[in-house]
Amino acid sequence: MRNQNTIKKQITFKGKGLHSGRIGHLTLKPAPEDTGLVFVYKDNHQRHFIPYTPENVVDTRNNISISNGKVVIRTVEHLVAALYGQRIDNCLIESDMNEIPIMDGSALEFVAGLEETEAVEQAKEREELRIINPVWVTSEDKFIVALPYNGLKLSYTISFPNSPIGTQTFNLDFSSESFQKKIAGARTFGFIEDLDYYRKHGLVLGGDFDNVHVFSKKENRSLNSPRYDDEPVRHKVLDLLGGIAMLNFDIKAFIISYKGGHTLDTMFAQRVMSTISGVQKVGGVYSYGTDTNYYYMLADILDLEKFPS
Ligand SMILES: [Zn+2]
Repeated sequence: MRNQNTIKKQITFKGKGLHSGRIGHLTLKPAPEDTGLVFVYKDNHQRHFIPYTPENVVDTRNNISISNGKVVIRTVEHLVAALYGQRIDNCLIESDMNEIPIMDGSALEFVAGLEETEAVEQAKEREELRIINPVWVTSEDKFIVALPYNGLKLSYTISFPNSPIGTQTFNLDFSSESFQKKIAGARTFGFIEDLDYYRKHGLVLGGDFDNVHVFSKKENRSLNSPRYDDEPVRHKVLDLLGGIAMLNFDIKAFIISYKGGHTLDTMFAQRVMSTISGVQKVGGVYSYGTDTNYYYMLADILDLEKFPS
């Protein structure tokens, strides 16, 4: 087992929301042991705290959105994947926009920022969750299954027939190094033919060729330069790690995903939490919603004048 980590000093990012198209600021701040990853939405009058846990996920269509029942923060998945990849376990994530900036569509800029501010080891151990019996979720022909393994290994397969993406498989032996080298730079992708539909539904309003790897089914090609031949499946691995991050412990398993996505990733995290007895105690995130002292502690760190609602 390793010890928990936070970041050495705070770091700010500025960027555009993929879906909203609005510009916002994001500040990551160090947090004490057992805090987990906690989003703090800042508007003019108050702050809302939303721990990144499976129970706080409210929407998994086209992004992972979380909520405390009052405000929603969208598109959290790439940032939390970067934190998981860099093994930052405790962090306050202050945002003045209800969407996390998409940056270049990957986790590259978040990883670079985290590298710059550095990790700080804390005194307490990071809890581990070992899968000892298979755990799985399915939906139509899609599935995620986790098998016992002494480490974290991911195998991901996607299938987009009649498109330039086709079928791709990627295998990752997870470590911070392999995450940085093989996964962090893989961008969000989409088909140009789907854009009108998304825009009509108020989605991808901030999407452009600088933050989405765009494919054309009609022309059977990528419309901007790929970073890897199999960039789409690598991006899905990034998204899966963003889903795993909501578990708030180091999972030891061989996880196989076939045509997964945000919905299945979240279902998997929820299944893991509900299947394994005693999990609720690990990391303690589930008690945060009602723990007043915890909020006072956060308010202290954030230098709040007013107790959050
Ligand atoms: Zn993604």
